Amino acid sequence: MEMKMSKPICVNEEYKDAVVVGAGFAGMYMLYQLGQLGMSAVGLEAGDGVGGVWYWNRYPGARCDIESMQYSYSFSRELEDEWDWSERFAGQQEILSYAQHVAERFGLIEKINFNARVTKAEFDETTSTWVVIVNGDRAIRAKFLLLATGSLSASSMPDIKGIDTFRGQSFHTGKWPHEPVSFEGKKVAIIGTGSSAIQCIPKIAQEAEELLVFQRTPNFSVPLHNRPLSESDYKYWRSNYQELRHQMRYARGGFVVDKGMPSALEVSPEERDREYTKRWNNGGLGFTAAFEDLLFSKEANNTAAEFLRRRIANIIQDKKIAEVLTPSGYPVGAKRICCDTSYFETFNKNNVRVIDVNKASIKEITERGISTSEEMHEVDSIIFATGYDALTGAITRIDIRGRGGQLLSDKWSAGPRTYLGLLTANFPNMFMITGPGSPSVLANMIMAIEQHVDWIHDCLAFMDSNGMDEIEPEVSAEEDWVNHVNELAQKSLYYNANSWYLGANVPGKTRVFMPYIGGLGNYRSICDEISEEGYRGFSFKSSSTTKVVEK
Ligand code: NAP
Repeated sequence: MEMKMSKPICVNEEYKDAVVVGAGFAGMYMLYQLGQLGMSAVGLEAGDGVGGVWYWNRYPGARCDIESMQYSYSFSRELEDEWDWSERFAGQQEILSYAQHVAERFGLIEKINFNARVTKAEFDETTSTWVVIVNGDRAIRAKFLLLATGSLSASSMPDIKGIDTFRGQSFHTGKWPHEPVSFEGKKVAIIGTGSSAIQCIPKIAQEAEELLVFQRTPNFSVPLHNRPLSESDYKYWRSNYQELRHQMRYARGGFVVDKGMPSALEVSPEERDREYTKRWNNGGLGFTAAFEDLLFSKEANNTAAEFLRRRIANIIQDKKIAEVLTPSGYPVGAKRICCDTSYFETFNKNNVRVIDVNKASIKEITERGISTSEEMHEVDSIIFATGYDALTGAITRIDIRGRGGQLLSDKWSAGPRTYLGLLTANFPNMFMITGPGSPSVLANMIMAIEQHVDWIHDCLAFMDSNGMDEIEPEVSAEEDWVNHVNELAQKSLYYNANSWYLGANVPGKTRVFMPYIGGLGNYRSICDEISEEGYRGFSFKSSSTTKVVEK
């Protein structure tokens, strides 16, 4: 279908029907779908290649913890058939190669401008268009602004005195260098013990002379049990792919997992243990699906926590070290559960030491290392595995202004406000892909991305065929959705931990639960119902009521 979009506004500006910010999996699929609609679109990407998080996160051990046959696009049967994943859980390099393959195969590369960071975007009410500023000086005007900026892409550095004075090498896991980094013979410090740290600690410990792990909160982690994919795996997946993809689309987490039992408290301790052991041995995120009440009942959750604590005690030989690394005081899954390959085992090595910063607090980073309240640690390298200003950071770090010049970061100062995580009132035609208020990080991101992009595709087609120029949520619909997202989260145990889901890792960020916990399948049905009911809760403006200046 060829879409009839407005003409260029002014001779000195570039004009596109749509600007897509970010060339990760969301941006690439959005560009593909805009192409299907016949719209002119440009992708703007700060990096010099596609892949998003998989472009930036090149730290040793970086790997996806959703199975590769599930963490891959489902929109093209040919793509599914022609791409062979080598492992059950793909590593960063293979996922990046896949992203590059997709970009080339579907002609997306030529639509993307690389090294193009969007610094500002302002809605021009007189023409119903967005003026997008790239690298501070280039202007592109577009009818639609599509933010495919990623949920975990705005890296967060700790506020530690003297952080810039360190003379050795320093890295953030989310901005890892493209050239190989060797830790051979080096004394290395790593700050953080989240998913990124848990993946790279075992790898770095194999190389470094000494590895010091600065831990603030111990994490629950289950083994990944990665392995090469076999012929029989392929046979199974390829002969059932359509049915399995359907299941993924309607699954709570966007991936196929053995269905759990209703309650951990309704089975005997032996049966519970068998279930946890089965899932532990199977590996990956399926552990938390063992019982449906794990994230809703403290008592049920305790049974999973106790199981995982026993495992840590069995793996780590030194009781004192095991104690430091054993999580307590928050429920399993309330902080994102980690998946590892020999994480706890690594602390049995003589060259690895954990430092509990609750006891030996970090006072300062100096030219030579990290000084705590207990001692000075001279190191050659410091790795900041300190995470992200999640879900909102990549959006609010752009100077985005809607109607009347309202700043998006002001509107969201007490937490993000969206309708369905897709749009926000007063910022017409600005779609967010997997934005706050949608399942996003609680689901297999690729399935969540496809659902959002497909919905946006249909919405743009609807607008075109009905002569609509603007879409934005009604304030009351947005209010109801924000309340609904909060009410669901409050019924869960998610508020019982200081997690990035809540923004608790970023000093000064309002503590509010950002993703939608109702599950991807339910969320998909809600979005479909809303569009089938004529886009309930959205208001539209037609061409006759907006001015477009002809070139
Ligand atoms: P993260 O989970 O936010 O972990 C950051 C770590 O840094 C935490 O241990 C945090 O401690 C610590 N930290 C932050 N500031 C600190 C400070 N000032 N002093 C001491 N410690 C500090 O970040 P991440 O590990 O990069 O992971 C983020 C998310 O990305 C994951 O949860 C996951 O969703 C995704 N991810 C997935 C994979 C995968 O597919 N396997 C891999 C990597 C990342 P506190 O816990 O006390 O805040």
